[in-house]
Amino acid sequence: MPPPAIRDAALLAACLADRDVPCPICTYNLRGLDGMTCPECGFALGIRIGSDLRLGPWLFGVLGLCVPLGFIVAAGIFAGGKVYANSGSAKDWAIAVYLWGSTLAVGIAIFAMIRFRRWVWRRSARGQWLVAACCTAMTVLIIAWFFIWVTFLY
Ligand SMILES: [Zn+2]
Repeated sequence: MPPPAIRDAALLAACLADRDVPCPICTYNLRGLDGMTCPECGFALGIRIGSDLRLGPWLFGVLGLCVPLGFIVAAGIFAGGKVYANSGSAKDWAIAVYLWGSTLAVGIAIFAMIRFRRWVWRRSARGQWLVAACCTAMTVLIIAWFFIWVTFLY
């Protein structure tokens, strides 16, 4: 939830003295406003601090971890079933452990993205996209190596 608006008539008047700002309700131009309400619709006005926080790259990175994680977990469960059914050949065990280890690694990466989200948000746009690309590359490489393994090496 955004913080409450600052209700200060002098601050509001100073801000709107030489700026074209539309009323958030009726879009009436509030330039040169004298008072605390919109003269057109009567809406009570205040000042609020905002920023142009961009969530796109961070969200892209988190989704780049979460969506493939579904596949990695499902494949890990399947591999575990195969180990159980075949009473565990070394190759079945290796793939299962690889998938379980990958699940743990991606889980830690998701935790880090949430825990250190403010660190990511403070980066430049380029830095944020770099973090997102690393997240996506991590899961793409895990799944690519899994398919190379089961297709060519198994
Ligand atoms: Zn208005």
